[in-house]
Amino acid sequence: MSALAEASYLPEGLTQPAPMRDGMDAPYWESTRAHELRVQRCANCGTHQWGPDWVCHACQSLNVEWVTVEPTARIYSWQRVHHPVHPALADHGPYIVVLVELPHADNLRMLGNLLGDPMQDIVIGSDVEAVFEDHDNGNPPYTLVHWQTTRESTTSGKSPAPGQAAEPPPLSDLPPVGPTLVERGDAEYYRSAAQRQRERARGKD
Ligand SMILES: [Zn+2]
Repeated sequence: MSALAEASYLPEGLTQPAPMRDGMDAPYWESTRAHELRVQRCANCGTHQWGPDWVCHACQSLNVEWVTVEPTARIYSWQRVHHPVHPALADHGPYIVVLVELPHADNLRMLGNLLGDPMQDIVIGSDVEAVFEDHDNGNPPYTLVHWQTTRESTTSGKSPAPGQAAEPPPLSDLPPVGPTLVERGDAEYYRSAAQRQRERARGKD
């Protein structure tokens, strides 16, 4: 279900990622070297979480372990990056950053790059699979996790029809937020929301 990258997606010259000094995320980096995807799961309540922490965000247990999960996900959000955020990216781009979620691991979300044509149409909810990109010459050697859309999701008709815009609308096309709130008399709404909150607080006593 996973694949190996044939070449580096981003150009040379970027700083390499390193495990946290306290070793917190070392199991993740070790797993990517083995071309597996490992995340945390609470041994107490079973909730998956990402990024790594010493404590379970759901039940505050300190009994958090690492588990290998299926390296597949679906696109939750994305952005086509044109602006070079690092000198090494000056003549590179655009490229695509995706926020993916893992439905088989409590929908936890991870950031990564989406491989393929940087101008490809992207559909929220598309299935993606992890692609492991080895950097054997790193110090220490490391492996990055990228994502690519799976064959099924590109042939199942989820892609937009030709000519149909997949880009989010430009900001200028969006309705102004402030005036809309005022027009709808939301001061009234917020007053009643505050009232409900007070009632709830009283009910808990
Ligand atoms: Zn827990």
